[in-house]
Amino acid sequence: MSQQAFIGPGSLEHVKEILGSHQAKKILLVTGKKSYIESGAKDALDPYLEGSEVIRFSDFTPNPKLEDAQAGISLIDEVQPDIVIAIGGGSVIDMGKLIVILSAQVEKNTEEIVLNQDLVRTKGLPFVAVPTTAGTGSEATHFAVVYIENVKYSLAHDFILPDYAIVDALLTHKVPSPIIASCSMDALTQAIESYWSVGSTEESKAYASRAIRMVLPVLKSLHGGDRRAKEIMAEAAYLAGKAINITKTTAAHAISYPITTYFDVPHGHAVALLLGKFFVIHAETGEEDITDKRGKAHLSEVMSDLFSMFGCDNAQDCCKQWYKTMDEIGLQTDLQIIGIKTDTDVQLIESKISLERLNNNPVKVSPKMLHDLLLVSWNSCS
Ligand SMILES: [Zn+2]
Repeated sequence: MSQQAFIGPGSLEHVKEILGSHQAKKILLVTGKKSYIESGAKDALDPYLEGSEVIRFSDFTPNPKLEDAQAGISLIDEVQPDIVIAIGGGSVIDMGKLIVILSAQVEKNTEEIVLNQDLVRTKGLPFVAVPTTAGTGSEATHFAVVYIENVKYSLAHDFILPDYAIVDALLTHKVPSPIIASCSMDALTQAIESYWSVGSTEESKAYASRAIRMVLPVLKSLHGGDRRAKEIMAEAAYLAGKAINITKTTAAHAISYPITTYFDVPHGHAVALLLGKFFVIHAETGEEDITDKRGKAHLSEVMSDLFSMFGCDNAQDCCKQWYKTMDEIGLQTDLQIIGIKTDTDVQLIESKISLERLNNNPVKVSPKMLHDLLLVSWNSCS
């Protein structure tokens, strides 16, 4: 499946021609509840929807749940829209992907489809993804996150890749600083994880390294609300999305999902918490615990590429720089303050980890390593 992407400030105007090319009269709009209006997205999009019948679906919480998707699927069945536009953060775009793909299948048991993606046989309605937070890159990927009873699943299929991605940084200008901080760290973490993933290719590494080189110089000015920085960030998040569309993410993401669910840490903040430590783990692990078939020499080369992108001499420096940056953009790095304090907390996280993502990590992550990471050595880079 291929995607048509429109990137740059003002690119939202392409909605008009997309609607025209599908002769779309009836539009299902997937949005956040308040954020759609508060972010200015509604005011920006409205002029392009004039003359169309618009039905809005916003009745779901962040971190999309399958039961919430059910309501959206019923709405599609009922109103039979010509096209679906999802405009919002990563959860909104994931929800759009879910209801578009799930509503199109002969199999009506949605949980069955999530557990067995072979049941996806048909492409859904034309789908336009318009990110407003510059972070997840969901607009560029062929998978959708969904939670069933607090466990995170990723439904993956080529049919899930949005037909159109519109990456217009003007939509990110009103996003509050804490959200910007969290989202930018998500994009950066995704690019780094993609770069060292066992599934990396020359193509994915090219997207990832471009994203990393774009994000690093603007991280701090982004926090200060700089507009040009937000434009660079929006494009970098899209590139990071294209990178993980090929490789998927690794251990920092795998461990983050239960931290988000049980300790109430936003996604981008949660993935950043342990990423810095993996600079050290990946640089120091011996051949026997490396899962990437290309071996230690390959991983060493990957790590030294990353060190040079970060402008640091070694893994420890990169790790320290990582947590210093988090501090500077206002993200808590103290796991004890976040609430991860006891063996029981660690066991809870361990029991809900995404094994699929963990297996994508270039180094084996053992329960002992996880215990040490979360309880013993979380505040040191040695
Ligand atoms: Zn992410």
